Amino acid sequence: MFNQLQPVPTDPILGLMTEYKADTNPKKVDLSVGVYKNEVGNTPVLAAVKKAEEYRFNNEQSKAYLGMAGDVKFNELMTNLLFGESDAVNSGRVKTAQTPGGTGALRVAAEFIARCNPSAKIWVTNPTWANHISIFNAAGLQVEEFPYFDFETMGLKFDQTIEALNKVPSGDIVLLHACCHNPSGMDLNIQQWQTVADIAKKQGFTILVDSAYQGFGHGLNEDAAGLRLLASQVDEMIVCSSCSKNFGLYRDRVGAISILGTSSAKAEVAFSVILNVVRAIYSMPPAHGADIVATILSSKELTALWHTELDEMRTRINGLRSFVVNKFKEKNVPGNFDFIANQNGMFSFLGIDKEYITTLKNDYSIYIVGSSRVSIAGVNDSNADYLAESLAKVLNK
Ligand code: PMP
Repeated sequence: MFNQLQPVPTDPILGLMTEYKADTNPKKVDLSVGVYKNEVGNTPVLAAVKKAEEYRFNNEQSKAYLGMAGDVKFNELMTNLLFGESDAVNSGRVKTAQTPGGTGALRVAAEFIARCNPSAKIWVTNPTWANHISIFNAAGLQVEEFPYFDFETMGLKFDQTIEALNKVPSGDIVLLHACCHNPSGMDLNIQQWQTVADIAKKQGFTILVDSAYQGFGHGLNEDAAGLRLLASQVDEMIVCSSCSKNFGLYRDRVGAISILGTSSAKAEVAFSVILNVVRAIYSMPPAHGADIVATILSSKELTALWHTELDEMRTRINGLRSFVVNKFKEKNVPGNFDFIANQNGMFSFLGIDKEYITTLKNDYSIYIVGSSRVSIAGVNDSNADYLAESLAKVLNK
């Protein structure tokens, strides 16, 4: 039965991660994977997480099944973290289910959308996180792109975005990144969110917001401003969230799917479909990571500690953005990279050709994804000179 199978290439980013691990060059630099790294290149467990784990170790009473929606307390706290003080939440129109990471949330959303409308098209930004396309295709849904990032100006092409969204029909889904757009780092400002909300209301399409980096851009509330604006104005929406980055819980697989319904009763019906989808995929999510998040968010002391640690991660990334731009200037890297300082989150495109990316990997052990997306958090004091000098050499050749 397995004989007819053809090997499937590994995900290019995960493939690079394997190559990087095997590379013995002591100067190697990894700018590929979207994982926060501190100044010594580690992805540490947050102190707030360690404390919550200690609490869990001492207080966990049972490992009996939790149910399809996962941890009820976690769901309530995540709803508040995402939507803030909101009429939509107060009126019972928002329902949240814990999922295995943001990816799990997106996959549940995909199956849910297929139940709502099997011929729905999913409109994604060009470019978007590559896995978005695989996840929606895997649920049998067609994915279409709309113009978003402009490689000429390294900014948005919002006029073209508007033009495209004005043609998306009712029954389709538009997927937007809440903040820290992956891979471009270019986010909508609040006026642009309002424009999108107006078009959604006029056209009748549904927006799915993917919130994978809340707190990594400008702050927890600032990074949720777009999705909160939508929630206060549209009838229905879907939010998929991840605690991988902001709680550093990558491998513990913590995320959530939230739906906003036109009424509390309608949201309840939609939620029953979500739970039915969950039952047939993984039955119920794992408990550990969500319990850690719930423990942190329900303790004033742990929340304060988490905020400090999150602020530290964000400040480091934002500082690195200007640091990289200055370092490139200092080392005479040809081209203008000022845009890096104005973008958000961990990613930006360098905008350099594939041949340079290959040379950087083969000759300098600098690992960058083929699209030229770099994970800024991979830069630190000890590799910045080497990175900028190598880039200058390769681009000046
Ligand atoms: N959405 C986006 C835009 C992401 O960048 C990621 C993680 N790379 C995810 C979702 C999924 O996150 P998780 O690891 O929680 O599945």
